[in-house]
Amino acid sequence: MAAVAAVLRSDWLTTGPAVERFEHAMAEYTGAAHAVAVSSGTAALHTAMYALGIGPGDEVIVPALTFAATANAVVYCGGTPVFADVEADTLLLDPASVARNMTVRTRAVAAVDYAGQPCDYEALRKVIGERAIALVADASHSLGARYHQRKVGTLADLSTFSFHPVKHITTGEGGMVTTNQAALAGRMRTFRNHGITSDHRQRAEQGSFSYEMVDLGYNYRISDLQCALGASQLGELPGWLQRREAIAAQYDELLAPLPHIQTLGRKPDRTHAYHLYVLRVRGRNVAFAALRERGIGANVHYRPVYLHPFYRERFGHQAGLCPVAEAAYEEILSIPMFPAMEREDVERVVNALREATEG
Ligand SMILES: *Cc1c(COP(=O)(O)O)cnc(C)c1O
Repeated sequence: MAAVAAVLRSDWLTTGPAVERFEHAMAEYTGAAHAVAVSSGTAALHTAMYALGIGPGDEVIVPALTFAATANAVVYCGGTPVFADVEADTLLLDPASVARNMTVRTRAVAAVDYAGQPCDYEALRKVIGERAIALVADASHSLGARYHQRKVGTLADLSTFSFHPVKHITTGEGGMVTTNQAALAGRMRTFRNHGITSDHRQRAEQGSFSYEMVDLGYNYRISDLQCALGASQLGELPGWLQRREAIAAQYDELLAPLPHIQTLGRKPDRTHAYHLYVLRVRGRNVAFAALRERGIGANVHYRPVYLHPFYRERFGHQAGLCPVAEAAYEEILSIPMFPAMEREDVERVVNALREATEG
């Protein structure tokens, strides 16, 4: 609150120094060379797809099990999202399914670090091989996680983050794209500002009124008020990640004896940021209703994207396209996971699950 109030008393409410400070903080935290802040995680995905030059006739492979925005960003650019299946134990994008879905039109693969565990980026790179196919990480769930000792934000050509209130850190609404490629960062800075090559503050500093719009961009800017909040939140992240890990360990221990519940697989070569704690349960709808009845905020992430009416109608998709994701959708349940949870809260959730699944 103090950081936001300080911006309110300053000269710049948007396009000001707090945006740059948050970008630098995110670049430093992730280890990426460049960070470009935008107005949402969805804007970050759209900006990333634009930077890669995705357009009509291009295909981008996305996992079936994600939030719709991952695929929507491809459609915004006139491209075609191609849905690949996920691995049954981790629900992460399956490199073998990516290989099966690659065509001469494939321009990018967008991996989603589902629930907070990074995808197998080495396997994905191997599948791409020497082809001119970009790798994008939708890292909305995985800020702070590592894969082979490297931080999320540096694992793909472009990595996107969301700062919606449900995510690890928030700016109210907001997003970021990180990259090591200066040319991509430059394209993204122009795109978020209407396709104009200089911003308001640069012109003020140069004492100049003229500017050029070189491409059709959007207003995807994020305000200094939001970025001050984001930078402050980022300082809390290490402690919050530790709490999430401790809560996950308590769930693991208490859920292990429950016969009808299965937790998701975890890989030893990466850490998990636990945006979500997802389990698989037979009779999921009954368990969901039982938790809700007790005032426990359970949820389901996600219905396979191509089964939404828009995707069925626009692209003619039908059930059966990604059988692993479809089977998972019948059983997955996200149970409460947030840093302020106490041991008693965890026990209350597990007890409710036990009662709901025993009968
Ligand atoms: C939250 C989220 C987004 C979109 O982020 P917004 O900031 O809400 O636009 C995209 N992809 C995934 C996987 C997400 O979880």
